Amino acid sequence: MRFGVEFAPYKRIHTSRNMIIKDTETIDKEIPNVIRNEVISALAHYPELKTTRIRFKFTRSLKGSIMAARPQVSTLFGTRKNRTYDILINPVFKLQNSIEPIHQVDSKVLIGWIGHELGHIMDYEQRSTFGIARFGLLYWLSKTYIRKAERVADTFAVHRGMAPYILATKDFILSHSGLSQKYKDKIARLYLSPDDIVQVVEEMQQSNASDKDDILAEEKDITTNIEQEEQQSR
Ligand SMILES: [Zn+2]
Repeated sequence: MRFGVEFAPYKRIHTSRNMIIKDTETIDKEIPNVIRNEVISALAHYPELKTTRIRFKFTRSLKGSIMAARPQVSTLFGTRKNRTYDILINPVFKLQNSIEPIHQVDSKVLIGWIGHELGHIMDYEQRSTFGIARFGLLYWLSKTYIRKAERVADTFAVHRGMAPYILATKDFILSHSGLSQKYKDKIARLYLSPDDIVQVVEEMQQSNASDKDDILAEEKDITTNIEQEEQQSR
């Protein structure tokens, strides 16, 4: 059921941290062992990405964010099936007065976070190389576009039955005492709010229409918004 509601219960895969398991979810994936269970749980909601090349990589190069999903630019010019994506993950979660290693964050929260990043990959997968270049440019130019892109990613995850995880992630961020108000405000401004998520779930229950197509169609309005933003900043 593609857009139906299916609150898949958290599928815990019992393995030791270092055991290599053969499973169908990890074709063409590179996953650090320490977050393997969470990545596999999130991937289970996206059967379309079963054979998509995705590398989950720890990096300290992310500024101001915990995770990011990006296509590897060098793979954008070859054949479509060789296109490779990176999900970059900050190994530590910087708090105002301390740091918390990412793998110590609650599993459900991490699954929601990874589910959101996989939502971005679903969005990229529908785009041509030119479409991805355009996305990158608009994301860089326009706050309105960032908001739209983040909401598309959240909407993909909610449509794939990940609402409880996405909600857990929001709740973790918005109620975390160690996170700066600036970061919380950014998250509240750009992403689907808990109320929005409940609304998306209700809409899914009422119809199978794909909201994401509507959101993507709104892209046309973005050019106008950028012009307005430019005029305001003059
Ligand atoms: Zn995002």
